[in-house]
Amino acid sequence: MMSYPEFMVRLIDAFAKMPGVGARTAERFAFYVLGAPYETVETLSKLLLKVNGNIHYCQQCFNLSEAPICHICSDPTRDHSLLCVVQDPKDIIAIERSGDFHGVYHVLLGVLSPLEGIGPKDLKIKELFLRIKNDAFREVVLGTSSDTEGDATSLYLTKQLQALSVSTKGGSVSSGKGARLPDGQGEMKVTRLAHGVPVGSALEFVDKATLSRAFKQRQEV
Ligand SMILES: [Zn+2]
Repeated sequence: MMSYPEFMVRLIDAFAKMPGVGARTAERFAFYVLGAPYETVETLSKLLLKVNGNIHYCQQCFNLSEAPICHICSDPTRDHSLLCVVQDPKDIIAIERSGDFHGVYHVLLGVLSPLEGIGPKDLKIKELFLRIKNDAFREVVLGTSSDTEGDATSLYLTKQLQALSVSTKGGSVSSGKGARLPDGQGEMKVTRLAHGVPVGSALEFVDKATLSRAFKQRQEV
């Protein structure tokens, strides 16, 4: 039986391993590579290596970054007392595009999913609580998606944050109208994004106007 040359077969196999790419698409990609100008393919292969070798997670917020600390965490003009918790670096891109948020972020790198065996330890939750304990945030916005898993993650974080307010002396989680604490550290408000989008929509697919509205109408939890 006639088959493609070995390198062509291996390239098709490599493309087929990519998420959302089936055998037919992998074959089309391989033919694109075959017919593309040499410079195009050279740039593509260099970029693949650059992304793989140079892009890391920010040590503070787990956004994608070339530097150890990302450009948002290291920007002094942003409001470092306002924290938005998202599930994926893609959500940061979507929120930044809306232009309505000038705080900082924390990326969980996923959501709780008992069905897939993803528990709190598999997400950057421990790191989130460490930041909350060390930095004085006046507001934490829970920006996980409005599907079952996103809501469950948000609920879990809300409960943990409320438990934290009981156990810490420094800050307090707002229950609506608490007074400022004697040591000068204000209380911390926890809010949830008002999505106003169909159930199951991830933040990255939400349009700018909806996302902007979601920030303006965020509700205290
Ligand atoms: Zn960062």
